[in-house]
Amino acid sequence: MKKHDVIICGAGIIGLCIARELVARGYRDILVMDKESHPGMHASGRNSGVLHAGIYYDPGTLKARMCLEGNRLMREYCRENSLPLFESGKVIVARNSSEVHTLFELERRATANGGNVEIIDERQLEELEPNARTAGKALHSPLTAVVDPKSILKSLVRDLERSGKVRFQWGSRFVKAGRNFITTDTDDLAYGLFINAAGAYSDKVAHSFGAGMDYRLIPFKGIYKTLRRPAADQIRGSIYPVPNINNPFLGVHFTRNVHGEVYLGPTAIPAFGRENYGLLRGIDAEAPAILWRDALMFLNNRKFRSVALEEPRKYLSSCFFSDACDLVKELRPEDVKDSPKAGIRPQLVNLRTHELVMDFMVEKVGNSVHVLNSISPAFTSAMSFSRMVTVEYIDK
Ligand SMILES: Cc1cc2nc3c(=O)[nH]c(=O)nc-3n(C[C@H](O)[C@H](O)[C@H](O)COP(=O)(O)OP(=O)(O)OC[C@H]3O[C@@H](n4cnc5c(N)ncnc54)[C@H](O)[C@@H]3O)c2cc1C
Repeated sequence: MKKHDVIICGAGIIGLCIARELVARGYRDILVMDKESHPGMHASGRNSGVLHAGIYYDPGTLKARMCLEGNRLMREYCRENSLPLFESGKVIVARNSSEVHTLFELERRATANGGNVEIIDERQLEELEPNARTAGKALHSPLTAVVDPKSILKSLVRDLERSGKVRFQWGSRFVKAGRNFITTDTDDLAYGLFINAAGAYSDKVAHSFGAGMDYRLIPFKGIYKTLRRPAADQIRGSIYPVPNINNPFLGVHFTRNVHGEVYLGPTAIPAFGRENYGLLRGIDAEAPAILWRDALMFLNNRKFRSVALEEPRKYLSSCFFSDACDLVKELRPEDVKDSPKAGIRPQLVNLRTHELVMDFMVEKVGNSVHVLNSISPAFTSAMSFSRMVTVEYIDK
């Protein structure tokens, strides 16, 4: 059986950044395996491409600790490699006076996390985003930026291949774990260290090692729409609503991407499959189990219930549109068109407590390390998070 010092399962942003970190620390024989034929087929290639700036997260959480530094490292990587980087900044607008209170809470969290944000008034908002509207105050985050996730993934794969220390095995699916070896759908592979960065399937991979046994991922679907011109020209950067800070999702927002297109979304609609990108596409034999878990969460968890009741209505264009209208002064139904872009946002739940896990989670079992909840802002945080995983779970 072929043996590698390290096997990484998953060539998303987390797997690639961990490989990069290990190369920097002198590891010489790393195999990155992925069931797909190329990078970016799942969350890392289907997201909004926003580099978040540490605003929402409870101080002390991994998200709070990793996000700003990840933002800085990702910007630096884009600059060094001449990859698209749009330093757009973002504004968070309030729909009513009670949301203004949450804006101040967001300012407090962002400042505690070392961020650089400012409460602005309507006149300042108009200068930054002339079409945005708010109830008196808004929050401005100058450090929020936008990148092209797929070009970052491609560039990381190229760097790793060039290092001569990393080999990629595309089209190779993890099936089960043995004693210091794994079985894939093509061969058996022995390892010194195994790293699970399998995104939406990371719970299943972990269970094979006896890790994360109390946890399951449940999928939420993020669908997007786009703006036609000239309405798109009215959005300069990113306009976000004040979110429900008890939930993991940020609400439908406007984002101008690095190519000048303006996207609206994503939603967080409970999905029926881990790759259920279309209405029916990606629904497989696991659907009844997912429905059962959703039903249990619906009964036992208030946060889940509010998302499950609120989000599916956004399948209706009129509801999606009315959410968008809350953020801007002018928008007509004919300005908004459907987009094929969709992503799945796997969210970890604790089966014992029926709680949504709100932070990143990592578990180590023997010589295997499992990244179990790479939720947003994991793309932003990937470089600093991978450094932390290497220092705290691999080097120790
Ligand atoms: C709609 C949406 C919008 C988002 N917006 C943002 C944003 O603006 N900013 C931000 O910071 N974050 C955002 N996120 C979150 C971010 O995209 C994810 O947190 C991040 O991409 C997770 O990366 P990953 O490497 O863990 O997972 P993935 O990118 O899903 O990679 C996992 C890889 O593992 C492979 N794999 C899975 N199972 C197996 C198996 N059995 N065998 C072999 N390979 C396997 C998959 O093929 C995949 O390539 C968003 C996510 C979504 C879905």
